[in-house]
Amino acid sequence: MPVFEVQIRAVLDRVSSVSAPSDYSWSFVFTCGSCGENTPKPVTFDESMSVDLIRGAKVTLTIKCKFCERTSDVTLLVEPHVYSDSGEFKPFVGLDCRGTSPSLWNIIEPLTIEGQRGFIFEDTEIINQEFFGYDEDLKQECSVTEFEHVLQRRK
Ligand SMILES: [Zn+2]
Repeated sequence: MPVFEVQIRAVLDRVSSVSAPSDYSWSFVFTCGSCGENTPKPVTFDESMSVDLIRGAKVTLTIKCKFCERTSDVTLLVEPHVYSDSGEFKPFVGLDCRGTSPSLWNIIEPLTIEGQRGFIFEDTEIINQEFFGYDEDLKQECSVTEFEHVLQRRK
């Protein structure tokens, strides 16, 4: 089954990483592989969700297309969601999809931003691709800028 991934890129200034915890709520619009229609709303899920398929396999969720009524399934890959390579696109989350593909990542939960000495910024909001914070441990400003992401098929 094809795996799709979000790759992110940002410029990190005095920031060691941008990450998502294991209980992070992911939210995506999916496009039906049969008829090409999008889900009317983003679909939200996390690592703890599980659906048993008839043949005994487990997936994170199933999606029934409202237009052609085909059912597809999605498995959120359990792997770390940590970005620390300032300036370069790197994989951030992977989705194993059967019959559908993600077409938009809807960021509904703040990402975790960690300073160089482990200071954690809470309630981070990346607005206009930027985040600016004050690191209480370093006593310095730090930032995440030029934040962007792409969705692509994993090779
Ligand atoms: Zn469809």
